[in-house]
Amino acid sequence: MNTEIAIAQVASLIRDSRATVAFTGAGISTPSGIPDFRSRTCGMWEKVNPMEVASLFGFRQNPRAFYDWVHPLARLTLDAQPNAAHNVLARLEKMGHLIAIITQNIDMLHQRAGSSLVYELHGHFREATCTHCFTTYPGLPLLEQFLADSQIPRCPRCGGVIKPNVILFGEQLPLQVLRAAQDAARRADVMLIVGSSLEVAPASDIPIIATRCGAKLVIINLEPTDFDQRADVVIHEDAAVVLPKIMRYVEEQL
Ligand code: NAD
Repeated sequence: MNTEIAIAQVASLIRDSRATVAFTGAGISTPSGIPDFRSRTCGMWEKVNPMEVASLFGFRQNPRAFYDWVHPLARLTLDAQPNAAHNVLARLEKMGHLIAIITQNIDMLHQRAGSSLVYELHGHFREATCTHCFTTYPGLPLLEQFLADSQIPRCPRCGGVIKPNVILFGEQLPLQVLRAAQDAARRADVMLIVGSSLEVAPASDIPIIATRCGAKLVIINLEPTDFDQRADVVIHEDAAVVLPKIMRYVEEQL
């Protein structure tokens, strides 16, 4: 399908919907300078074993490997600004078209763009928890300190290693957030996938829940996904370019 026609079609789906829900992944934040995990050029997975550096088991064995690996991502995340795609989703919420964002991202850029109902399936850097006594701390000052001195954050109460509240491989998704996201997916009549390979389970079950409950599926992703065949509209382009175009159509049709 011609991209311009697809863009107009997505705009009319959003305008006519009662409950559009966005499901976002790392690809929505690449235009903000944060690499996704699967692009061949970013190198975040190339020199490491994900099960060693980014799993709960690996973290408990060797937190230094996790912290060394996460260092560049944390720096980029703290420096990043929301881009046009985040801004459009925030505006669609304010206009009453979008009822929620379900995100796999840990970068907090949706909230910084002004979105208020954001379900962060894979956690975030705003908080961090001691792996020994489970005391929770504000995460951002700890992260800034770590970026300044590269020392693994330690609990002031018990000396245990502190872990950011991001979900590692082998870790349960936060149950209340997952349930709320599943509920939003059930209520959605349009699900807008933006910048996700849809390869990470159980997050990738969310679009399936939405389509089973009758939602139209729109995929905006640079590369093809295994879900493209099930989608009503697929656009393989940069989300930060496509979403503002969709927005112009939505506003024209008001
Ligand atoms: P992914 O890396 O598996 O896939 C990203 C997809 O986005 C790719 O298919 C790519 O083609 C597409 N893409 C890249 N740039 C795009 C753009 N400008 N416009 C449209 N599409 C674009 O990402 P995922 O599906 O989110 O799964 C990866 C996991 O890694 C998630 O769990 C996520 O939590 C985590 N992660 C998060 C961040 C972040 O918070 N920004 C960054 C990297 C990884």
